[in-house]
Amino acid sequence: MSLENRVALVTGAGRGIGRAIAEKLSQEGAHVLCVSRSEDSCGSTAEEINNSGGKASSRALDVSDGSAVAEAAKSFINEHGKVDILINNAGITRDGLILRMSSENWHDVINTNLSSCYYWVKNLAHPMARQRWGRIVNITSVSGLVGNAGQANYASSKAGMIGLTKTLAKELASRQITVNAVAPGFIETDMTSGLDEKTRELILKNIPLKRLGQPSDIAHAVDFLCSERAGYITGQVFTVDGGMVM
Ligand code: NDP
Repeated sequence: MSLENRVALVTGAGRGIGRAIAEKLSQEGAHVLCVSRSEDSCGSTAEEINNSGGKASSRALDVSDGSAVAEAAKSFINEHGKVDILINNAGITRDGLILRMSSENWHDVINTNLSSCYYWVKNLAHPMARQRWGRIVNITSVSGLVGNAGQANYASSKAGMIGLTKTLAKELASRQITVNAVAPGFIETDMTSGLDEKTRELILKNIPLKRLGQPSDIAHAVDFLCSERAGYITGQVFTVDGGMVM
């Protein structure tokens, strides 16, 4: 098991991609700190991990609330002595064309998807730097690479995460902390469950591998980036999308 004795924090661990990442990192031996908005959600992931022989705990909080993140980061460090791995995965969509996009929908998405990453890194990079080892993986999106009509807020937040990833990779490299991003295409989760049949068909036409991705497809990429084997990879965006964006 490649992550034995590591402590990994996964945001949005209650469902979908985050849950698959939490399960995968725990299978590799990490103690996983599962964070999501509702305790029901992250609590059930932690319970399932503990029931299957892994180690996990949960904490419900709103990642767009800077003081809640600071308080949680402090208590994780107090309790576990360290956080080795940070996976910024929590995210939301509030889609709409720019002419009709409310200021609330703009700020909610930017704060939840992007500002949250700043809050976690601000509070965890220092303890990670002190131990001279760390992994940060930000879950962005192909929308952040190529844009998507109806997603000005979401695509901007995801493009912002890429800029943040590359900057942090440069700033934290001397402390042996690698910072990478994974850009999923269309993955079957609650986030994409609302797609109608026509849209699904249209999407599939543009995916060379002819299927939507599974949360485990993303978890495998994240697992690799967290491992020792990926120790010489930093500042990169790994696209995991069945070949949709090349
Ligand atoms: P889901 O909607 O299935 O799950 C989102 C998770 O994020 C939930 O656990 C939710 O908590 C948590 N979350 C949302 N807002 C907050 C908040 N303010 N504070 C704390 N936790 C929060 O999403 P996916 O699994 O589909 O997506 C995960 C990530 O992958 C997102 O960043 C998304 O943008 C990205 N992505 C997804 C793609 C897809 O096709 N599914 C494609 C490209 C990128 P709770 O369970 O408590 O509600």
